[in-house]
Amino acid sequence: MATLHDILTSDARVREGDPALWEKLDRNRVRCYACGHCCPIPEGQPGVCKVRFNHGGTLYVPWGYVAGIQCDPIEKKPFFHAHPGALAYSFGMLGCDLHCSYCQNWVTSQALRDPNAVSAPLEVDPELLVKDALAQGAKVVVSTYNEPLITSEWAVAVFRQARQAGLLTAFVSNGNGTPQVLEYLHPWIDFYKVDLKSFDDRHYRELGGRIQPILDTIRALHKMGIWLEIVTLLIPGFNDSDDELRNLTTFLAGVSPDIPWHVTAFHQDYKMTSPADTRPADLLRAATIGRDAGLRYIYAGNLPGRVGDLENTHCHHCGEMLIQRYGYSIEEYKLTLEGNCPACHAPLPGRWSKKFDGQIAASPFLPHGRAQLVKILSQP
Ligand code: SF4
Repeated sequence: MATLHDILTSDARVREGDPALWEKLDRNRVRCYACGHCCPIPEGQPGVCKVRFNHGGTLYVPWGYVAGIQCDPIEKKPFFHAHPGALAYSFGMLGCDLHCSYCQNWVTSQALRDPNAVSAPLEVDPELLVKDALAQGAKVVVSTYNEPLITSEWAVAVFRQARQAGLLTAFVSNGNGTPQVLEYLHPWIDFYKVDLKSFDDRHYRELGGRIQPILDTIRALHKMGIWLEIVTLLIPGFNDSDDELRNLTTFLAGVSPDIPWHVTAFHQDYKMTSPADTRPADLLRAATIGRDAGLRYIYAGNLPGRVGDLENTHCHHCGEMLIQRYGYSIEEYKLTLEGNCPACHAPLPGRWSKKFDGQIAASPFLPHGRAQLVKILSQP
């Protein structure tokens, strides 16, 4: 029986990497620039992510499948300042360049490393994905669930189709980028969420990365004008000291005080089963530190109704409540058509629809008629 590795390295599931994202080295080696590892890869070997590999002195990359599709409220990604209420058609492939023990998407992200992570790829092409996104009423197509940087060529293929169909595009990513991959993505991406997991390089090394490429990516995305929101999953004892949170939020506020920061509650998952779950009081403490550092839009996530006013958006100038939320649900929306505060007319930073049309769904769902979709996706 073919293994997952056999399936993912078959001719139909790979193609040559985009020339912008790799180069040839000596002795038939290649260097990949799709993520901050910048792996030098010997002939016959994969990179750290296990999904991009060197065959005959050429870099091959994942193509033509998804491991998961789901319709999410955009608030779940989470984007709070980008088309509130929009349905985000979300797809993911397999693999990751990090190996976080608390990963909440481990079934797809660690599929190539962990035999317990079983996730079957579905054959698909970009036209059918986008057609299905339109049929569900989606406004945004999002590459998520695995680390999208390592499958950037496929994401861009889908995003090209999405743009032609009038849809917006987004990445939900760990932010371990390079200048090369960000330039490659720049024309095709509207919103970018970076998961800033810590502000300590030693913690990043435990997760298999380094902090510097992530900080560089955050600065670069902001400079490029791609709408950026940041998430930090607050893990008791790992990244929640006052010092670390002060340094993290001071850095973000230095890039821009208008970048929304979502500080979200950890629950025990995957291999991280020892720290206690994050309490509402921990999120409130982090929010206070972030506010003192100068951030204007701070949200507390994963504990709906238990974090006071930290699910809502307020005007930074006059304090008017502009968007009221409960979890992913929008309870009230008061922005003007131009995205301004109705009380003082100050603009709210973000990307806004001309009109708020309500939400198709305030909780995730699988595409309607998924069995039929899978059948369509599986056609030769
Ligand atoms: S995506 Fe990152 S981990 Fe994978 S081969 Fe390229 S540089 Fe290495």
